[in-house]
Amino acid sequence: MTIAAIATANATGGIGIVRLSGEKSIEIANKIFSLDVTSFKSHTLHLGKIICNDKIIDEALVSVFKAPNSYTGEDVVEFNCHGGLRVCKMVLEAVYQNGASPAGPGEFTKRAFLNGKMDLSQAEAVADLISAETDDAVTVAANQLDKRLSNNINSLRDELVASTSHILAMIDFSEEGVEELDYTDLKATLEKINSRISELILTSDSGRIIKDGINTAIIGTPNVGKSSILNTICGEDRAIVTNIEGTTRDVIETQVNIKGCKLNLLDTAGIRESDNQVEQIGVERSKDAIQKADLIFLVLDGSRELEERDMEVINLADKKKTICLINKNDLPEKLDFKDEFLKTVYVSAQTGEGFDELYDYIYNMYSVGDISEKIIITNPRHKQSLLNANTLINGILSAMECDTPFDIILGDIEVAISALGEIGGMTVSDEIIDSIFANFCVGK
Ligand code: GDP
Repeated sequence: MTIAAIATANATGGIGIVRLSGEKSIEIANKIFSLDVTSFKSHTLHLGKIICNDKIIDEALVSVFKAPNSYTGEDVVEFNCHGGLRVCKMVLEAVYQNGASPAGPGEFTKRAFLNGKMDLSQAEAVADLISAETDDAVTVAANQLDKRLSNNINSLRDELVASTSHILAMIDFSEEGVEELDYTDLKATLEKINSRISELILTSDSGRIIKDGINTAIIGTPNVGKSSILNTICGEDRAIVTNIEGTTRDVIETQVNIKGCKLNLLDTAGIRESDNQVEQIGVERSKDAIQKADLIFLVLDGSRELEERDMEVINLADKKKTICLINKNDLPEKLDFKDEFLKTVYVSAQTGEGFDELYDYIYNMYSVGDISEKIIITNPRHKQSLLNANTLINGILSAMECDTPFDIILGDIEVAISALGEIGGMTVSDEIIDSIFANFCVGK
């Protein structure tokens, strides 16, 4: 089946690309283009007119990529149209009219995966690259697309495969009764593989933060200045990426980029109300936000003494992940409070004082330095496969201590090989593959 979709954003732009993939791509493109597309060499670009039902739709550049040397591994044709939404939609309708079918979400990349142009972790990197909102998120995704994760995992798999050969060789020897079995080399190899797997798993905390951002709850009693602090952090000079409604009602999540770190600020709006019953609901909401949070901004009003209700909020906060912001530092200080938080910063949402110190602290806390040469696990699916392989290999190492039969050890190594194979998609079910591509955008 030949598929087609608009590959550029669903918005007006300078250029809009309508992409076709499949064995009839060239034939379909030829029916609506003023030049003979069938005569075009692969990887060439041609200017002509797109004509359908005797009407000119656009003057466009057409590029042709012949199988197997294309993104999908199939014949691919791309129309580089003028970037109006209606123009692109008319070109798309013209290719549908001439035999193309609408592409599903991620179907081009799925075909690339199924045709062996990329493995599953690279395909996932394509989606990550498109949704990346910080420089580090781009770098990690680009490195994964560059096969660095796959190469690393494949080398671990290869070593495990070599280990099975080692065991088979030992079984042969033992049947001949020629030699005593020597586990030493095999054990050392498995330990080495497992320590590399553990190192990769350890990167996943940073990976999640780089990819998804730092979930940060702003908590405090009414009028301490939570909203003002949120506004200062999201000020016009700072890039607000998106505003999305949180899953909990009245908790607004604002994403903001601070020195290259993505913060998902969870504003617990409900806690602001003063009516007791409503305030109780607010406390419940902030408890929920606190649980979800990687980081908590506990806001206190420095211009007044501590009250009982402040203590209630303070007691909600896990001190090990809390930065205490003593706000209203522009007013005379009346608060006398010390506790063991990650950090206490005196700020004024009114004057902006203290926020640079806060940003520097966050940067130092979360920045992983230069990540261009590092392999970082950002995908929970990859982490789970690594954890599975890790547990299996630990089990094999314990089994080797107590004369477990070879066939059981062999079987477990094969399962560990298969767990690592899931990352590149060699050993995953069609359902998993479908669910991964279902999250892609149409046209990619
Ligand atoms: P929230 O209920 O915790 O979200 O508090 P708001 O952000 O609504 O602020 C409550 C009041 O404190 C408002 O009148 C703000 O103008 C004031 N306020 C907030 N931050 C500061 C500050 O840094 N200095 C001063 N002087 N007033 C502030």
